[in-house]
Amino acid sequence: MALLELQDLSLHYHTGRGVISAVNQLSLALDAGESLGLVGESGSGKSSIAHAILRLLPAYAQIRQGRIYFAGRNLLDLTEPQMREVRWRQIAMVFQAAMNTLNPMYTVGAQVVETILTHEPNMSSKAARARVEELYALVGLPCTLLRRYPHEYSGGMKQRACIALALACNPQLIIADEPTTALDVIMQARILGELESIRKERGMSVIYISHDMAMMAQVAERIGVMYAGVLVEYGCTIDLLAAPAHPYTAGLLAAVPSMADDVTQLQEIPGEPVDLYAPPAGCRFYPRCSRATAQCKEQAPPLLPCRRNRDGEHKAACWHLL
Ligand code: ATP
Ligand code: SF4
Repeated sequence: MALLELQDLSLHYHTGRGVISAVNQLSLALDAGESLGLVGESGSGKSSIAHAILRLLPAYAQIRQGRIYFAGRNLLDLTEPQMREVRWRQIAMVFQAAMNTLNPMYTVGAQVVETILTHEPNMSSKAARARVEELYALVGLPCTLLRRYPHEYSGGMKQRACIALALACNPQLIIADEPTTALDVIMQARILGELESIRKERGMSVIYISHDMAMMAQVAERIGVMYAGVLVEYGCTIDLLAAPAHPYTAGLLAAVPSMADDVTQLQEIPGEPVDLYAPPAGCRFYPRCSRATAQCKEQAPPLLPCRRNRDGEHKAACWHLL
């Protein structure tokens, strides 16, 4: 049985300007111990999915349909007190701009200890402090930093502290939303490498969220590609990178720069992102796709198995698969 299973999830935001269709009929599953990358351009719905899983959506968001099963329970059926048991203890999140999630008024050590004691009230303060020291060692931070305030940390240190905070209650799943965007590539590789080795050691699952395909290639075992609120391709990372089946995924991969590229020749995906207040009726990529036909304009394609499909899981939502 999958640890996490999203079934037919659709999510809207009701705003002053109208209704945003942020996530549309999304289905995907994640096994225990697995890492999944959700990739796509800004506004494609990645963070909305994370917030829906943790039930942290604003009041004006509406889950129109679908189910979110975690360890066999539909999270959408749980009461708020039951959800508080799930958050942090079972599913933790490293938020986008994690740098700003630490409270500047308290030392970072005090914040991690408080998180542990809130979620494990039977633990003694001494045991919680010992756990925090272990976590700091795990993410490669010296324990002396526990007595310091967030402003005394560098960007990389804060990011590691946030990962330590996410690991504090031994969750089964961590959702890491752009965990290293603000960091240089060396620090990014180091932190992601550490998170991956912790994941493997503890048998945890991780969902990485990023627009960075190159980063996903390094860490995710499977990748889901989002475009305008729709999962357009899903499969094991090796298959998806070697033979992308959806024109948008192919465009994303072609846009990843390499050292050998002439900067004047970098490829981009033509056109503008979809207006989610009024998405196209058929395939949402239709206005930007060079392979589009009349069928694409009229009918939204379902996720279909790809031809070059080693494990039966590589699927793409396109009427004219590459
Ligand atoms: P990014 O990579 O920029 O964070 P994303 O892929 O995570 O983008 P979301 O943040 O989930 O995408 O946004 C999906 C759509 O929903 C966008 O059109 C966005 O404007 C809209 N949206 C997201 N959060 C809210 C919100 N709190 N209120 C209104 N609209 C929102
Ligand atoms: Fe392009 Fe049509 Fe495939 Fe959409 S369904 S990605 S428009 S070829």
